[in-house]
Amino acid sequence: MKMCKMKHSKYWLCLVVIVSLLLVESAKGHSRQTQMPENPITLVREGADQKEALKINEAIYQAIGFGNTFLVTTSEGNVIIDTSIANRAPQHVKLLKAVSSAPVKYIILTHGHGDHTGGIALWKEPDTKIIAQKNFAEFLHYQTRLAGFFALRNSAQFSLPRPAVSEWAGNYGAKIQANVLFDDKYEFTLGGVKFEIFHTPGETPDHLTVWIPKYQAAFTGDNFYGSFPNIYTLRGTQPRWALDYTNSLNKVLALKPELVIPSHGRAIAGNAEITRQLARYRDAIQYVHDETVKGMNAGKDVFTLMNEIKLPPALNIGESYGKLSWSVRGIYEGYAGYFDLNPATMYEKPASSVHADVVKLAGGAEAVIKLAQDKLAAGDGIGTLHLTDMVLTAEPTNRKALETRLKALELLVSKCSNTNERGWLDYSISEAKKKLAVKN
Ligand SMILES: [Zn+2]
Repeated sequence: MKMCKMKHSKYWLCLVVIVSLLLVESAKGHSRQTQMPENPITLVREGADQKEALKINEAIYQAIGFGNTFLVTTSEGNVIIDTSIANRAPQHVKLLKAVSSAPVKYIILTHGHGDHTGGIALWKEPDTKIIAQKNFAEFLHYQTRLAGFFALRNSAQFSLPRPAVSEWAGNYGAKIQANVLFDDKYEFTLGGVKFEIFHTPGETPDHLTVWIPKYQAAFTGDNFYGSFPNIYTLRGTQPRWALDYTNSLNKVLALKPELVIPSHGRAIAGNAEITRQLARYRDAIQYVHDETVKGMNAGKDVFTLMNEIKLPPALNIGESYGKLSWSVRGIYEGYAGYFDLNPATMYEKPASSVHADVVKLAGGAEAVIKLAQDKLAAGDGIGTLHLTDMVLTAEPTNRKALETRLKALELLVSKCSNTNERGWLDYSISEAKKKLAVKN
């Protein structure tokens, strides 16, 4: 009897160990939170060759893209979370409708950026309810108000064809009508599955997180992805407050999720791994925020802090999408605006207004270009850009200056490992080439 009991307990112990190992392995499989690609073309094409929807669990499916689309199935109909960018949405609809073509009862938008709202028209049925946080309405107005500005900026940064302003405003602007706009929290139940939706500002002021208690799953939108966040984006943004991100990440951590499903990249499984990754992400943002504030209070200027602030190795979450130096500047100028105590910057004449005089004083364009070429040969691409800027202010079509500038941009591309930086370098290269193609 005793032996038999021992045998039994050994058997159970063994089984527990095997099951635990399997769970750890499956969590590892899911938990490799993919880094954002370093090339904007690759980023925008991510998932373009996906043949069937990715099954996250028995009810949740993902179409991968520049903006994922998620399908949550219930016995009384489907819920769609985010709808991707307009040019990828048709593929996402096809992949997810192949899983289930039941009626779409709700579309939940994690926020009002175009890579999340682009497919609404393809998903919306007459009875579908669109749910967003209440700042969504103003956020869309803001994008529509600046439609001309953003149409160029977005297409340049992501190497997308430049849309007509009306098209841009139609996809991303105030035309999208949400049926439910909530303040802090909204919940509904469909087919016995409860959906809780929380306001979690960060990437945008209208950002939300969807929590499905049944699956212990949190859909975290763009408040968490495989890179330091884009606290400031070069295409232009109103401030994205660092402390909003950290508070929102704490809200998600407090739910103790077993699945975290971001709108870019892949899901992470297992609470231990989720806690490790989200806490590290939060702490990295908090660190950069606190160091920036410390430097501001110590009287340091923004460029000093952009150069000085580096993440400690334990908090290094990569910079393939957001970049620390831009985030430092975003936090600094988000708090303080542009004025740097230099009276010259108070006025409407920029430093470039004296560039032509400096070029003349230096002995003319040739002399400045020679210096720019020396900088280039020494590997200083940024210095080369500054010097060719001076010449091109004085002589906008100077071919030698344009050629030197092109080489500097190509040098910077060769060292670049950030999607957005790459987008602007590529855009500037094509602009320089266009100017060189014009016969003087
Ligand atoms: Zn996004």
